[in-house]
Amino acid sequence: MSIADNIRNVKKETGIVGVTLVAVSKTKPEAEIMEAYDAGQRVFGENTVQELADKYEHLPKDIRWHLIGHLQTNKVKYVAPFISMIQSVDSLKLLKEINKHAQKHNRVIDCLLQVHIADEETKFGLGFDEVVELLRSDEYPELKHVCIRGLMGIATNTENPKQVKEEFYELKTFFDGIRQSYFRNDNRFDTLSMGMSSDYKIAIEQGSNMVRLGSTIFGQRVIKHWKNN
Ligand SMILES: *Cc1c(COP(=O)(O)O)cnc(C)c1O
Repeated sequence: MSIADNIRNVKKETGIVGVTLVAVSKTKPEAEIMEAYDAGQRVFGENTVQELADKYEHLPKDIRWHLIGHLQTNKVKYVAPFISMIQSVDSLKLLKEINKHAQKHNRVIDCLLQVHIADEETKFGLGFDEVVELLRSDEYPELKHVCIRGLMGIATNTENPKQVKEEFYELKTFFDGIRQSYFRNDNRFDTLSMGMSSDYKIAIEQGSNMVRLGSTIFGQRVIKHWKNN
């Protein structure tokens, strides 16, 4: 199956239920991204700033790039001019830095707060209590150049679908609660990004409206043992 076929098949599953497909193109060459682009895909996700900035340079400017990997504050400046959404906001400090650089470029940058839902130590993200703390801080309302559009979460990498389902269910419940409590008058808080190739069907059942798919679209990635990302 070609990349174009994969895009069409996933769109059949996600499009009807109003789920946005983010094609995760990390490690994939530009030619393969262009195959997806030519099949109509416009939203792409990358997990490192370096690769993202590089691909942005060379590829069509109507691509909407999402950063889905951990972002260090000192690298915000490289993506601030063009990034469409930063899905991996995991601290108030980072949000403030994004705001600062967005202001310089006269932009409002869409962000998701990444919430830690997996039963694993290694995954980044805020705890439920930390999300609330951030939203209740005195500084958050001052940040006029970022827009929190919703939440993102990564489930545990496990063969146990019941556990994955529970983690997504918890995040959806939390998302609904946060929307009620803090965004009642702001309908821009509308995005729940959960689901990757191994678990996106479960995620959609549990109320996801944005899935991030890499290998389902582009095939398996070659694992880079020598690099720590
Ligand atoms: C790599 C990655 C994905 C896509 O993974 P696949 O299993 O290839 O679909 C989704 N989300 C994040 C945060 C990623 O880093």
